[in-house]
Amino acid sequence: MADPTQVTFREADEEDGFHEECGVFGVWQVPDAAAVTALGLHALQHRGQESAGIVSHDGTKFHSHRGLGSVGDNFGDQKVIDRLPGRIAIGHNRYATTGDTVLRNVQPLYADFEFGGFAVAHNGNLTNAHVLRRALVRRGCLFQSTTDSEVFIQLIAISLYSTVVDRLIDALKQVIGAYSLVALSEHAMMGIRDPMGVRPLILGRIGTEGTGGWVLASETCALDIVGADFVRDVEPGEIVVIDDQGVHSIRPFAKLPERFCVFEYIYFARPSSLMEGTSVYEARKRIGRELAIESAVDADLVVPVPDSGVPAAMGYAVESGIPFELGIIRNQYIGRTFIEPSDHIRHLGVKLKHSPNRPILKGKRVILVDDSIVRGTTSKKIVEMVRAAGATEVHMRISSPPTTHSCFYGIDTPERSQLLASSHTVAQMAEVIGVDSLAFVSIDGLYRALGKSGRDAEQPFYCDACLTGDYPIALPDQADNADRQLSLLAEIK
Ligand code: AMP
Repeated sequence: MADPTQVTFREADEEDGFHEECGVFGVWQVPDAAAVTALGLHALQHRGQESAGIVSHDGTKFHSHRGLGSVGDNFGDQKVIDRLPGRIAIGHNRYATTGDTVLRNVQPLYADFEFGGFAVAHNGNLTNAHVLRRALVRRGCLFQSTTDSEVFIQLIAISLYSTVVDRLIDALKQVIGAYSLVALSEHAMMGIRDPMGVRPLILGRIGTEGTGGWVLASETCALDIVGADFVRDVEPGEIVVIDDQGVHSIRPFAKLPERFCVFEYIYFARPSSLMEGTSVYEARKRIGRELAIESAVDADLVVPVPDSGVPAAMGYAVESGIPFELGIIRNQYIGRTFIEPSDHIRHLGVKLKHSPNRPILKGKRVILVDDSIVRGTTSKKIVEMVRAAGATEVHMRISSPPTTHSCFYGIDTPERSQLLASSHTVAQMAEVIGVDSLAFVSIDGLYRALGKSGRDAEQPFYCDACLTGDYPIALPDQADNADRQLSLLAEIK
């Protein structure tokens, strides 16, 4: 007979792929908490556009609305917000590109436990979710969704500890991976970052001192939109508990070296956000300057691939003294290219998203600046478009080192075989995308732009696994020995 846990497991894998990018947000003791949360999610829309959800608490009961689509699709109607009363709420934006996006996977996840209701919103990726899930299914746990995040709910459910926070700590000690969580119980809102702090999470204050409330969010741009002040980053390995007594901090893990995701700076975060006290916009401009120093080329114009290439192109232009021009105009009403699932659609998507500014490009030697090359689809199309508009030379400069490895920590990347840089040298990539020259910023240049002296192999400081293959957090689900790991976990409490 087929092993039922295997079946469940494969389904989970196929449907979800466990590839997610997400934004999380929460408010504590704020009037119209659901409306404020919807605003916060709007500011974090770039972190996930496939589904959105809010769970509120009115002091007695939890209320929830979750749906497929953008924040506007789900929370644009005041009647929906009115059905989410209370001064406390958490929310989530999700973006999963492989397989179906189904309603049961939309977060925040919610469960009724013996201690009361509990909701959780997760940004990141658990690297032992498969192994844990199989062990839990064998123990009789009934999974409702196919997301890795539900593992938190199931581990909390079976924990023998009595308080919510102790059960949460118990669950966290069994998971491996990258996670920034915002969770809500009947008496507290919690913000949690994994021990290496791979994904961002910040704490903010809203309203006046003494009477005001608290905010947790993936990025500071979500504080700006709701008029909250930045207080501090939630620290790696920290659990921030916000309740009627105020804010308390728990650090249940042994201290590990911090490995914040460098790709947040390169591409993912919104430029207006501060990450670890550093402006993402300024960081991107500095990367562009490094790129100009490392890979100078004679040309007439520096042209960004909008929007993500804009700050780096500005930095490149300032450093090189070559004029900056918007030679490509972006259609603001089209989402990020990766949303389109098939290659065919993705090709169409690129054309829909960008159009050439012909009078600017005609007869010019152009330096195109983009933040990254993943499959190479975007670059190839853009280069064709710029040449067709009359550019005489096209030089491509990329404000990240080549993306050679997949991310297993919460940034959606295709599997390694589809990453152009995993199988091509820079010269071969230049040929594929059809440019006169191609250069990427070096890994040391990237680190310098972020205020370090270079990449120190002993203490890299950032998670740069997608660029170096140096994975700081174990990947049990990827290991050939997943079954051995499973037997080790069979003794799960
Ligand atoms: P590609 O066409 O596959 O080479 O994709 C490269 C483009 O995708 C670049 O313009 C990037 O700005 C963008 N990009 C890079 N990483 C991601 C990601 N994880 N999700 C969505 N878009 C991305």
